[in-house]
Amino acid sequence: MRKARVATTWLDGCSGCHMSLLDIDEAIVAVAHQADVVYGPLVDAQEVPPDIDVAIVEGAVSSEDDLRKIRAIRRNARILVALGDCAVTGNVPMMRNPLPVKAILERLYVEGADVGKGVPNEVVPPLLKQVAPLHDVVKVDLHVPGCPPSARLILFVLKELLEGRVPDLKSSARFG
Ligand code: SF4
Repeated sequence: MRKARVATTWLDGCSGCHMSLLDIDEAIVAVAHQADVVYGPLVDAQEVPPDIDVAIVEGAVSSEDDLRKIRAIRRNARILVALGDCAVTGNVPMMRNPLPVKAILERLYVEGADVGKGVPNEVVPPLLKQVAPLHDVVKVDLHVPGCPPSARLILFVLKELLEGRVPDLKSSARFG
């Protein structure tokens, strides 16, 4: 039987959702029998590959790099899962939205710097004017709230999707 192709990535998030994913511990062996991870922080693929069955995305869309990545993932994935409150609602990253980007960068890189004062214009991807949850930018097939969602919930979602079912999260998922 063909193994499912799973991708994971994080945009503007703290990586806590990925830590929770790793907390499924030995259950990852059972998942590995059904799926190959073809993209994400745990594998060495540089570009989003084609033909992804399930893409799990942590974090909000904050930068031009995030935008490019989430669009590429959407183009190549049959099912896109928004994992965690940042991906679902914007959560913490979205708290910067009332402030102009220029003011934030100057506060951090000029006023807040002791040495090397200056806003970087290389390496750091340009920020978008506003942070957005995933569904504001691309179609999302499943929202999994939580900050982070528990490992148990993530495992349930993965198993259901890999079995071809839509997980019923009504009683098991919550924000925060
Ligand atoms: Fe971190 Fe919470 Fe955002 Fe996940 S939802 S990336 S744990 S702040």
